[in-house]
This record gives sequence, C-alpha cells and structure tokens, in this order.
Amino acid sequence: MPSPQRLSAIEQIQLRGSYPAETAKPLDELWGKNVFTLEKMKKALPKEEFKLVQRTIREGGKLDPSVANAVAQAMKDWATSHGALYYAHVFYPLTNSTAEKHDGFIAPQSDGTVISEFTGKLLVQGEPDGSSFPNGGLRSTFEARGYTAWDITSPAYLMETPNGVTLCVPTVFVSWTGEALDKKTPLLRSNAAMNRQAKRLLTLLGNTEVAPVNSSCGAEQEYFLIDQAFLNLRPDLLLVGRSLFGAPSAKGQQFDDHYFGAIPERVQVFMQDVEQQLYRLGVPCKTRHNEVAPGQFEIAPVYEAANVATDHQQLIMTLLRSTAKKHGMACLLHEKPFAGINGSGKHVNWSVGNSTQGNLLDPGSTPHENMQFLLFCGAVIRGIHRFAPLMRSVVATAGNDHRLGANEAPPAIISVYLGSQLEDVFNQIREGEPKSSSTAGVMQMGVDTLPEFQKDPGDRNRTSPFAFTGNRFEFRAVGSGQSVAGPLVAMNTILADSLQWLCDELERCIQGGASLQDASFAVLKQIMQENGSVVFGGDGYSEEWHHKAVHERGLENLPTCADALPVLERPEIADLFERQGVLSRVELQSRYEVYAEQYILAIEVEAKLALRMARTQIQPAVQGSLGDLSGSLMEQKSLGLPIDTSLAEQISSLNKDLQDQIVVLEQALNNPPHGSAAHMKHCAEVLLPIMLKLRKAADSLELLVDDDRWPLPTYQEMLFIR
Ligand code: ADP
Ligand code: MG
Repeated sequence: MPSPQRLSAIEQIQLRGSYPAETAKPLDELWGKNVFTLEKMKKALPKEEFKLVQRTIREGGKLDPSVANAVAQAMKDWATSHGALYYAHVFYPLTNSTAEKHDGFIAPQSDGTVISEFTGKLLVQGEPDGSSFPNGGLRSTFEARGYTAWDITSPAYLMETPNGVTLCVPTVFVSWTGEALDKKTPLLRSNAAMNRQAKRLLTLLGNTEVAPVNSSCGAEQEYFLIDQAFLNLRPDLLLVGRSLFGAPSAKGQQFDDHYFGAIPERVQVFMQDVEQQLYRLGVPCKTRHNEVAPGQFEIAPVYEAANVATDHQQLIMTLLRSTAKKHGMACLLHEKPFAGINGSGKHVNWSVGNSTQGNLLDPGSTPHENMQFLLFCGAVIRGIHRFAPLMRSVVATAGNDHRLGANEAPPAIISVYLGSQLEDVFNQIREGEPKSSSTAGVMQMGVDTLPEFQKDPGDRNRTSPFAFTGNRFEFRAVGSGQSVAGPLVAMNTILADSLQWLCDELERCIQGGASLQDASFAVLKQIMQENGSVVFGGDGYSEEWHHKAVHERGLENLPTCADALPVLERPEIADLFERQGVLSRVELQSRYEVYAEQYILAIEVEAKLALRMARTQIQPAVQGSLGDLSGSLMEQKSLGLPIDTSLAEQISSLNKDLQDQIVVLEQALNNPPHGSAAHMKHCAEVLLPIMLKLRKAADSLELLVDDDRWPLPTYQEMLFIR
C-alpha cells in the first residue's frame, strides 16, 4: 500500500476525471489568427511602405524610421482591436528560455486623460535592465544597460492569457557596447555568413540569378508527461527536472509497446489543446505520437526559415509546459528525467536553400551528376570533420550528458551518416570521378493488392549524431530542453567557412586554367581525402566504433560537459567565429563562462537536493521501517517463534552505505576547486559519481522498505498512472 501522501496524490488524479478543453475549430479559423502576418500588414500599410518592409525581410538592409512608425501604428491597431493593453519585447538570453519585457501602450496626457501609443522607436528598440541575465563577464552591474531590437524577419504575435492579451515582438538582445547577449543575434549573423558564401558558390557555378540563401530548420521535440500531483511530491522533478532517486519499475519500456501506440485520451486532449494554440500562433504542427518510453511523446512542426523556426520552437516549449499545467500534468523537457528508460532529445533537421536554386542539399536521383549538391554536401562534410568538437560542445548541457553515448542517443563522438548511395558516390570521388549512383529499386511486399513504391536510396541510421536524411541533415544529439539556436549557429557557421574555403580553391584552380568541372572534382577529392574519416555508416552505439573512431580515425570522444565546453576556448574555434563575423572573441569567451557556470550550478543544485532528500525523506523512512521491523522481530522472539533477521540486516547495511555517501557528498560539495575548467571536472568526476552511489543505496532500499513509509512517488506510479 502506498504511503498516505502518495495515496492522496493517486486519489486526486482519479477524482479529477477528464479535462474540459475547447472544441476543435477548422484550420482556416485557427491558422495565424494571433499573428501579425505579412498579409495583415499589407492590408494596413500604404503600398510603398509595405514593399519596403517586404524587401527588408527578404533581402536584409535597414528599414526607414518612418516605415517603422507606420508598422508600429498598424501593429498597435491590430493588437488593441484584439484587446491588447500591453506589448512585450521578447528575447532569448543564454538560458535556453524566453524572456519578456512588458510595457503598456498607455500614455497619460496633461489633461488627466490617457491615449494608447506605440511609435516606431518603441517597436524597434527596448531597454530591459540587462544585469540580471547571464552575460559571462560581458557587462558589470554598473553598465547594466541592455538593448532589445526588433527582428523584422520574425512576425509579431499575440499571447493570450485567460483575462488578457499581449502583443509580443521578437527581438535581439545586446549589451550597451553592442555585444550579443542572446541566442538570436548570432543566429542571424550565421545565416548572413552562410548566405554570403553560398551565393558566391552559386554564382561561381554559373547561375545568373541567385536569390538570398536561407537556412531551414524542422525540430522534432520529445517530452514526458506526468501528473502534477506526483510532481508536487518529487522535489527533484520539481526543482531540477530529473529524478535523483527512484528504483526501476518492474515494467518499463522493454515490451516496446509504447512507441507509436494509441495515444491515451487525456494526453490527446492535451496535445490538441497545444496544437490549437500553436496554429493560432502560426506554428505549423504536423506530427504527434507516443515515443519509446512510457509517458513519453513527440511533437514536430513542418520546417521553416531557421530564425522563425527557432522562435517557434521556444513557443512550443513554453506552451507544452503551460498547457500541461492546465491539464493537471507536468511536461518534463529534461533530457533524462528517469534513469533506466530513454531520455528525450530534439532532432534538428537542417537544410539551406533559396527561391532560385531550391534546396541546395537535394541530391536528385543521380547525385553523382549533381555538382551543386556535391559541393554543398562536401562542404558540410568538411565542416563537420574540422569542427566536430564544436558540434559536440553546442549540445553540451548537464542534462544531455546523461543521454549522449548512453545507448539510446547518439554517441558523444560526432560523425556523419550519408546513407549507402551517397557514401558510395563520395567514395568514388575520393578515388577519381564518380561514375554512377546506385538505386534502391522497388519495394516488393509479396501482396499484389498493395501498391508498389520506390525505396529510398539510403536507409536511416538512428545511431548517428548527424545523419543525411534525403534532402537535409538531421542533428540528432540536441537536448530536449535546449534552444535550437546554438546548434543552428554552429551548422550555418561551419558551412559558411567551408564554402569560403571551397570558393577560394575553385577560383584558384579556374584561374590556373582548369575547367569548372575539373576544379570542382579536384576540390571534392581533396575534401574527401582530408575529411572522409568523419563519414561512418555503421552502428554508432557499438564499443568497436568508439575504439575505432578515436584510435584509427582520430575523432574526439568528449563524454561530458567538462570535456566538451572547454572546446569553446580553443583558438581555432574563436578564429572560426571571428572569421565569419558570427561571434567576437569576447562574445565567445563570455558564452563559455556562462555555459560552464550553468553546468556547475546545475550539478551543485542537484547534489544539494540529493543530500537533502536523502537526509530528510529517505533516511527517516528507512529508520522508521527498521524500527518497525526490529520491534516485530523482538516480539516474535519473546513469543519463542523462529526469527529471520536477514531483511533487517540488509536494510541496515544499505542504510550504512547511504549515511556514508551523505557524508562524502557533503564534504565534496564544500570543497570545490578554483577555475571553471577544474570546477566542471570536479562536478563530472567527483560529485556525479558520489550521487550515483548515494542513489544506488537509496534505490536498493526503496525495494526493501515498507511501501507505506516510502515518501516519493515511484517510477511505476509516475509513468503509468494517468
Ligand atoms: P522523421 O524524421 O521522424 O521521419 P519527418 O520526415 O516528418 O520526420 O521530418 C522531420 C522534420 O524534418 C519535420 O520538421 C520536417 O518538416 C523537417 N524537414 C523536412 N524536410 C526538410 C528540409 N528540407 N529542411 C529542413 N527540415 C526539413
Ligand atoms: Mg527525424
């Protein structure tokens, strides 16, 4: 029988029944209703001014202040007609979450009346007090001024709360001296860098008309849902998002019966609620399904321009969390909320393209003849090989460390999966000119009423961190709670850098008299000879690969944040970001400091909480249980009954382990070394292993101690009661 507090949580869940939610509306009534779309802007603005806005969005450049005034007026009229009294500059600090500064449209007049006001200046520029956001030493408190600036390429929208509406304007966030303090600024810069070099290559290839090249992103989001009543009894899930204790449930995911299974009704009601809000916000949700672990699900929108997709991704995370609450549940976006079952990731699908040449990573049916594709894909391969440690470092968070390399998610070694067809084409290139592209043929299912279909030329590889999937790359190592901006910045920047090198080489060869075709193959051959070792099509989970990758291919294995974050301090990384104009050395250094501090804080908070839970929740339960047990043994003995003391001995021995680890952990917490790098190592190599030992004792005790004394909701309760 569960303890009284757990029992009461279970009763609350059962009593609550189903959750009322709005009935679904047709798509055309929902879609973009809360977005200040280009269409709405077109209706509200004079023709010429609208054209200027449209051009700025498409091609970049500065917007005339008078146009900003007109846009602000139109935006305000639209927002206030929907009941908005406030507007907010929304920005994306270095925390993976979204920040907002709200201001009223109100402007008091000298005669005591008020009017509503929103000028171009207020739209374009805001000034939140920046000192409370992580800045990695970029700004001391006496120069606390920070600026937000309107990002015209990401549409403004209305955020609804039960009794009000706020106009939200996506912005960048920079310091008084102009340094980026956020995730959006470098994303926009990286896209511009990629655009510069991609256009250069497309022009070299003989295209006369070349539209701006943009990166695209489609992010698949995994998450867990548990009942709020359980969360309230789990300080660990509540404060740090993952369970620091918890014995495995007898039934976990071993039946493989959850993935793509029927969605539980309560969860589907929740999902539909989220989707309708997202449709109103113009986020094109497309996919929903159960994930591998019990209690785990996925949502994925259709891909969009990377900058907009990134803002939408933040909205998805925000709405998943807030809507779950409304439905009496908690949405966990931690990468590993439960030990022993799969964690959650975010697959970031990425491609680059424009309106004149289309998707530049589309291989077509005969990739060996598609020079545009080969050069872009070759540039990606080169970039990933040269900057593999950077790719690892942009997914380095305390939570993701539990997932990467743990036989459920890609290893901490970055490699590229191309699929059999492309791997073969690039191998041919390494040896000379490619002569053919293999085809996969037609799928035969042995039932003649079923339709025939063409198989894909390459299979999928779930064990690869960076996989080509038909017309895009899928970066599979991103953590579920992370902003996708960092990974996109890395991909855009290394592509820009590779394209720059590639264009330089091509120009040199062509000046030396080579034909475009010969020059291209020569460059591609060099790319494959120097970087082909990053291409790997086998099982990324295997021990064999881990050994081979490091010892034969010279790839780096960076298992923890303590290994991966210091990559940001390497000179070649600073050179890369500086060369491409994406992050200055100072900006990069500040990011390293912020991320290192976040890692250290995350682990130390976990360690403190583990100590507290072990002392104030687990030990009392164990001691109470031991007391009962010894009382009952004495009674039996006094009655002359045969007694078995083995259970009491086992519990008491584990209790001793628990006590020992409590002491060791407390000492380790009180004696951290100086300096970010050493402190991170201390977290990874001292604190976490002690916490694991502490947990091992506690989890063994959970399986022995009286259930009606165990204070914490169990894995089976949290994962299976809904
Ligand atoms: P899965 O990878 O699970 O098969 P999908 O094929 O539906 O899922 O695609 C996953 C994500 O990839 C979606 O967000 C989808 O819109 C996105 N995607 C598809 N094509 C591209 C592309 N060319 N560039 C970027 N993302 C893309
Ligand atoms: Mg996928």
